[in-house]
Amino acid sequence: MSSPKVGFVSLGCPKALVDSERILTQLRTEGYAITPEYDNADVVVVNTCGFIDSAKAESLEAIGEAIAENGKVIVTGCMGVEENLIREVHPAVLAVTGPQQYEQVVRAVHQAAPPNRGHDPYVDLVPPQGIKLTPRHYAYLKISEGCNHRCSFCIIPSMRGDLVSRPIGDVMGEAERLVRAGVKELLVISQDTSAYGVDVKFRSGFWNGRPIKTHFTQLSEALARFGVWVRLHYVYPYPHVDEVIPLMAEGKVLPYLDIPFQHASPRILRAMKRPAFEDRTLARIHKWREACPDLTLRSTFIVGFPGETEEDFQYLLDWMSEAQLDRVGCFQYSPVEGARANELPDPVPDEVKQERWERFMEHQQAISTARLAQKVGREIDVLIDEIDEDGPIGRSSADAPEIDGNVFVNTDRELRPGDMIRARVTDSDEYDLYAEQIG
Ligand code: SF4
Repeated sequence: MSSPKVGFVSLGCPKALVDSERILTQLRTEGYAITPEYDNADVVVVNTCGFIDSAKAESLEAIGEAIAENGKVIVTGCMGVEENLIREVHPAVLAVTGPQQYEQVVRAVHQAAPPNRGHDPYVDLVPPQGIKLTPRHYAYLKISEGCNHRCSFCIIPSMRGDLVSRPIGDVMGEAERLVRAGVKELLVISQDTSAYGVDVKFRSGFWNGRPIKTHFTQLSEALARFGVWVRLHYVYPYPHVDEVIPLMAEGKVLPYLDIPFQHASPRILRAMKRPAFEDRTLARIHKWREACPDLTLRSTFIVGFPGETEEDFQYLLDWMSEAQLDRVGCFQYSPVEGARANELPDPVPDEVKQERWERFMEHQQAISTARLAQKVGREIDVLIDEIDEDGPIGRSSADAPEIDGNVFVNTDRELRPGDMIRARVTDSDEYDLYAEQIG
């Protein structure tokens, strides 16, 4: 199973380039491969320019070339407002959308070249409901494809192959354009973010004429220079992860680590073939928190993995009590076609999975509630995501969009999505905070 490939032609001004960037970022996070060639693409997107006649002619020519070479073409961008003209010249185009119509373009790509599979909670990088490209003040930044590990429940390596890191100059260039376009928060994602650069032996690339290593720590440092929120997802606790904790303590990178632990019992972790597994993880967590007391830890877990005994499960609950993670998602194990874990003996019956899942959630909810209650009275930065009839809703450094909690803000001031404010926490519940604006 290989990823569907999208060919992309981007014409026009820097604004159009930002549109292209947003569409490409989205498609990459959904598992599409981007190819510079027409002939091996499953569909081609042409982002057009319609500013002056010569630009229009160039756009029509590019559409014609893509149709001749590939046949399946989606048109977007400024010239998309002249759909009739485009269809008159090129009746074969599949869809025509205008500038900044990111969602429509992505939908048209889904139709022309459906993504390989449905949402897989074990391995997908984005929330099940997909990425909203609006509000536009946050963006996902995908830094690599594929994965060198072979976790027994996961089919990503057989689908997407081994780790391939994007050149650091490309990643930084994309980040810069996103920030210039108004993005206030970059969410760094990949299947294994802390392994960034392993495949190229951490070689140096260039950004703005300066050498910079293809490495997780150097990338984090470089992204910090943009002065926006940088949030790190899918980080495995390799030893060098310790190096980003000081950046977090200094406020350069958000004090937030998303580490998919999946389990705690050594026996189950071995059966899962998890990377960077070692029994000193709890000690590492304590050390990180000492160095950076504001650190938020998010993770996901699987309960009911084949062979999981009551003892393993209890081990997990005890570990959770010790680890005091802030944000946690939990899935009941279910076999994924093609995964080696399907052959493991001793499957856990469905009713036991359900019962363990409920106990896990209850256990963690108490931890999360207590941790949030400790924030009452503190001052925090809040990035406003939306305004609904009850007022502004935002997030703190501890909340990734869609998957974590919210901060409900009480204020007299007129706020807009993308505003960064200062607020004092007045109340909390299991997942969310309530706060009043103070600046
Ligand atoms: S680390 Fe494991 S779960 Fe994650 S993508 Fe790689 S093989 Fe899959």
